[in-house]
Amino acid sequence: IPGDYATLESPCPNCGGVVKENYRRFACVGKPGAEPCGFSFGKSPAGRTFETAEANALLRDRKIGPLEGFRSKAGWPFTSEIVIKYDDEAHNYKLEFDFGDDKKGEESGELVEFEDSALGPCPICGSEVHEHGSNYVCSKAVPTAAQPTPSCTFKSGKIILQQPVEREQMTKLLATGKTDLLDKFVSMRTRRAFKAHLAWDKEAGKVNFEFAPSKFPPRPGAATKTGAASAGRTSAAAKKTTKSATAKKAPASKTAAAKAPRKPAAGKAPSAALAAVIGNDPVARPEAVKKMWEYIKAHNLQDPKDKRTIVADDKLRAVFGKDSAGMFELAGILGNHLG
Ligand SMILES: [Zn+2]
Ligand SMILES: [Zn+2]
Repeated sequence: IPGDYATLESPCPNCGGVVKENYRRFACVGKPGAEPCGFSFGKSPAGRTFETAEANALLRDRKIGPLEGFRSKAGWPFTSEIVIKYDDEAHNYKLEFDFGDDKKGEESGELVEFEDSALGPCPICGSEVHEHGSNYVCSKAVPTAAQPTPSCTFKSGKIILQQPVEREQMTKLLATGKTDLLDKFVSMRTRRAFKAHLAWDKEAGKVNFEFAPSKFPPRPGAATKTGAASAGRTSAAAKKTTKSATAKKAPASKTAAAKAPRKPAAGKAPSAALAAVIGNDPVARPEAVKKMWEYIKAHNLQDPKDKRTIVADDKLRAVFGKDSAGMFELAGILGNHLG
């Protein structure tokens, strides 16, 4: 019934015209007296239908989420943010899923202002932890007015493998080292639900899964994959982590056992190429990444068109082995230069 179709409150991002709902889409109908510009987005991307309020918020903020309840083509449920982005080829804005991640502030260089009350002290540096986008972050892990260059790395997703991590649980983790037993995780690999605590893994330097002692130990696939996804890393970083998780595979019921083979994150000697950038001192990888970022920022090496891309100068070229690298590659690249 045409009368039931909504008119969105925010204007078309492309032409400033009116955006109206129709049978399948929300579409620009143009400014009064003008033609529609072609901007539109589907009402049910990946099988999940927008509420009108969500469509309004999406159009207003150019992003929404993370939202749950999407289904991949293969039928698997997934959670994602949705953003409205300019598409150079189409010369118009379009909808995109945005999985990720945690690098927003660093990418854009925008200063973050927190709007929530602090959840507790960062397990790494003791600063306040706040909500930021789809993550809980240390207030020193994102650029703020108080400290434009992040000095900490603490971040943990608000939704991890479909399991929402409520503020209450993150507060508990920060206060006691772990959450209650949460039972709505879904393994990306096996699609099975599983239960785990989220716990601060001091040696890995991130939030990790801690499985309750059980006579049915978690399947290796589930444990490995979930460990990798725990910190909401990018897929490249996640793959990397998966490897190490496999390598240190141990009865997953005790974190202590799983940790044992891994020495505390002692410093490792940087390669000559890396030493030229961050100095000769032995460093653990997170520290190396931090120093690398200081170098990148100090030398203004982020591609202005895409802050995710690092444009190498001579020293970085020796480290990267190429002219540029994506920020999500950094940790992996640095790993190859340490030890
Ligand atoms: Zn328009
Ligand atoms: Zn911190």
